[in-house]
Amino acid sequence: MAHLNDNFLKLKAGYLFPEIARRVNAFCEADAAGKARLIRCGIGDVTEALPKSITAALHKAVDEMAERGSFRGYGPEQGYAFLRDAIAKNDFTDRGVEVYADEIFVSDGSKCDCGNILDILGHDNRIGVSDPVYPVYVDTNVMAGHTGDADSNGAYAGITYLVCNEANGFTPSPPTDGTKLDVVYLCSPNNPTGAVATRAQLTAWVEYAQKNDTLILFDAAYEAFIADPAIPRSIFEIPGARKCAIEFRSFSKSAGFTGVRCAFTVVPKELTAKAKDGSRQPLHPLWNRRMCTKFNGVSYIVQRAAEAVYSPEGKAECKTLIEHYMGNAKILREGAAKAGLKVFGGVNAPYVWVKAPAGYTSWQIFDKFLNEANVVITPGSGFGSAGEGYFRVSAFNSRANAEEVARRIQALKF
Ligand code: PLP
Repeated sequence: MAHLNDNFLKLKAGYLFPEIARRVNAFCEADAAGKARLIRCGIGDVTEALPKSITAALHKAVDEMAERGSFRGYGPEQGYAFLRDAIAKNDFTDRGVEVYADEIFVSDGSKCDCGNILDILGHDNRIGVSDPVYPVYVDTNVMAGHTGDADSNGAYAGITYLVCNEANGFTPSPPTDGTKLDVVYLCSPNNPTGAVATRAQLTAWVEYAQKNDTLILFDAAYEAFIADPAIPRSIFEIPGARKCAIEFRSFSKSAGFTGVRCAFTVVPKELTAKAKDGSRQPLHPLWNRRMCTKFNGVSYIVQRAAEAVYSPEGKAECKTLIEHYMGNAKILREGAAKAGLKVFGGVNAPYVWVKAPAGYTSWQIFDKFLNEANVVITPGSGFGSAGEGYFRVSAFNSRANAEEVARRIQALKF
């Protein structure tokens, strides 16, 4: 008899988005005449079409695949040199950050990379995550058997939750109570809170990591949305990070690739972790081995599209795309603030994090928005118990929808 992975049975059954869908469906059924024009600001998917230079690169690559002489089959598992070189130069070297092309592993998404990285880490690590948190970090550790059961708040035994709140600007500080984390997930700009970690905050984390032999898993999926030049866009801007951090990046939000699928992970050659025999071993060969064994590379066509992100036209078009979403974020921020709500994020990130008015839980404010403004938001409690009393508004929308949402928020009576 085949035995299943019992760890999956510990997972809180994908509560957040199915529950949102259930409530939205119930609303739509009740509105059989279709009078309400529902606007969805819940899921963080992009709405705007791919930039022209990127679709042109896709077409060109498709045409190459149609000719015997230029057709490509399996590519290098780590990614084609043309893309790894373009990433190293544009995202790192040109910005004075030390990352080499052979430290970049191209993949089909950061979500997969965030989960797959656990393949090369041991099972006894003390894991730290922020609360609220991008659920993938937690659920992948549950699946890998790194946790006990969840309590009534959805917090899993064995995981250290670093509470993010107004007092710490929604960016966790390293533990000061002597807790030694072996692995910590940091996400800046943050999903869901839209907070960004300052250079001083990231330096404190790198210093903590050096002192405690901690591995930082740095998720920079939203780095392209950072407008403030003082905010680091990569953990590798911080001295010492090459010895204690892995970085995840994605083209999903920066270039509209959520449906195209391309991302990459940076594993510096100096980065090591401890083996059972006490020796220190580099992680780069392990990740390389993992990718070569379990992955056959991103399609040539998609990698050519990602390369086009770094062309002069691609850069200009992606900048316009980001300005569009950040324009929405500003409109949403201002709309919520004018309605008397306390607003966070949305300045260097495409998510606006809003405090629910006194007396409302996250789900109560969700229902109010749905029923009275016909706007779908995401309840903060779905990202962790510290998210209770907040909600997330995504700036991924058309301009007209963002403006309409801002108007509807102001018409609400709390
Ligand atoms: N990391 C964070 C923080 C995200 O919010 C997301 C997507 O929403 C991802 C990673 C996943 O990105 P990808 O589309 O590359 O899988």
